[in-house]
Amino acid sequence: MEYKIGENINMTNKEKIKEIKKWQKCKFVHQLICGKEKCNGVLGPKESGNPLNKIYLGCPKCDYIQYNIPEMVFNLNYEQFERVQRLLETPWI
Ligand SMILES: [Zn+2]
Repeated sequence: MEYKIGENINMTNKEKIKEIKKWQKCKFVHQLICGKEKCNGVLGPKESGNPLNKIYLGCPKCDYIQYNIPEMVFNLNYEQFERVQRLLETPWI
């Protein structure tokens, strides 16, 4: 799959944060984790504030910061995944 950075995605920071949180909770994708060896911290969205006003990913366990966020994070159909997840958790009998 092509790896594109979600740099120019047309969303507010608030919307981006929401999508990143959905990705990190989604059981069907690989979580974005810390780039430092042996850390494995689950990255969370952070806002840089002015003047850059950018969203980036930060590790809660160390000082790792990642500015590149895959574009896929912002345009996945999470509602569809949630429907599948509910289906998987529903007993059939
Ligand atoms: Zn880390």
